[in-house]
Amino acid sequence: LSERLSGVFDKLTKQGALSEDDVKTALREVRVALLEADVSLPVARDFVKAVEAKATGQAVTKSVTPGQQVVKIVHDELIAVLAGDGAEIGQLKVDNPPAAILMVGLQGGGKTTTTAKLAKRLKDKQGKRVLMASLDVYRPAAMDQLKVLGDQIGVDTLPIVPGQKPADIAKRAKQQALMGGYDVYMLDTAGRLSIDDALMAEVEEVKAVTAPRETLLVVDGLTGQDAVHTAENFDGRIGITGVVLTRMDGDGRGGAALSMRAVTGKPIKFVGLGEKMDALEEFHPDRVAGRILGMGDIVALVEKAQETIEADQAQRMMKRFQKGQFNMNDLKMQLEQMQKMGGMEGIMGMMPGMGKMAKQVSDAGFDDKVITRQIALVQSMTKKERANPALLQASRKKRIAKGAGLEVSELNKLLKMHRQMADMMKKMGKMGKGGMLKQAVK
Ligand code: GDP
Ligand code: MG
Repeated sequence: LSERLSGVFDKLTKQGALSEDDVKTALREVRVALLEADVSLPVARDFVKAVEAKATGQAVTKSVTPGQQVVKIVHDELIAVLAGDGAEIGQLKVDNPPAAILMVGLQGGGKTTTTAKLAKRLKDKQGKRVLMASLDVYRPAAMDQLKVLGDQIGVDTLPIVPGQKPADIAKRAKQQALMGGYDVYMLDTAGRLSIDDALMAEVEEVKAVTAPRETLLVVDGLTGQDAVHTAENFDGRIGITGVVLTRMDGDGRGGAALSMRAVTGKPIKFVGLGEKMDALEEFHPDRVAGRILGMGDIVALVEKAQETIEADQAQRMMKRFQKGQFNMNDLKMQLEQMQKMGGMEGIMGMMPGMGKMAKQVSDAGFDDKVITRQIALVQSMTKKERANPALLQASRKKRIAKGAGLEVSELNKLLKMHRQMADMMKKMGKMGKGGMLKQAVK
């Protein structure tokens, strides 16, 4: 795949911003990569469409190709989708004891194993007292399986009473949890090979009698296209609070993760990484994104290029400042940097000796909207004017302000700020070969 990709990317023309064609060509390959990772077809299609809209027109970093740039954008977007707000990753709601955790999913997905893994984690990491109960009345061996695991990890299991219905076992588990002073009780349900109505009705009933704090869908990370179907059904009918992806230790690329997120919007909380009881980890969106896309080399390359360019730019600017040069282009670059770094105070606070000025600036009501307007003013200047702001007489000022849709008074404020900053740069430049400034860039 890598070779095919670089072939396509070489054909793309180099230019400043991503054109629609660049993006379309690169995304065609990305779409193939997603499908090869077992992302479901509709999810892959929607994802690619959303990225296409976002990527077109974005700047291309020097020394990378447009195709590589698109891959980086796709990678970042994948992480964003997989992570959501990230608040619930690795978290389980287990307040108000006894809290029920209901485990659902298809047969063989890893429910029983994951139930025990989570119980162990709650016990070891949070010091919780946990009770586990198997509701798998169809396979007596499944009940034994949970008990064996419970003994192994030192977690109690509900005594097995043959002949009870799942909802009755659930009620009994709740009773036992209450009386026995457990913090959490976990309900390991039976699965079917495919979704059926009896299974859903059964789980609904269990949910009704226990009001679980968490309903976790356990999905085999190697499942491909029908991951979406499974997720839609369980979330639609039962309502899940999160997902656990198992078998992420295998060599599958884990596209089910993206499908899960797209279809349910529910957080992926954990991943299973083996059969052992401690083979469970918090979900790491960046790792899974890298694996789904399978283009880690390209992503690393673009990141490196971006870092290098930022460092180059900063260094070049510092050299100019040391020579006492600070024109409107420099100011504009500073403003843009500020925008990126979350405002004036942020960036000035990082530069030694600028603290006082940062305060003046913010006292003068300098906010991000002001930065946007100031950039517009500089953009409305000619090349000559930017290089030499001394040229700016009344008529030019009027033209520039009008061009930016602003008042001349605002332009005057900008010019005053520029003079102050230029003075400051000059002074700092004289203070020995940029000792301070050099520190400021580091
Ligand atoms: P259930 O039918 O959903 O309860 O699935 P089980 O918990 O019984 O798991 C089915 C099989 O998958 C067992 O052999 C488990 O050991 C295995 N398994 C579960 N989770 C993982 C995992 O994360 N990685 C690997 N490699 N195997 C797993
Ligand atoms: Mg089971």
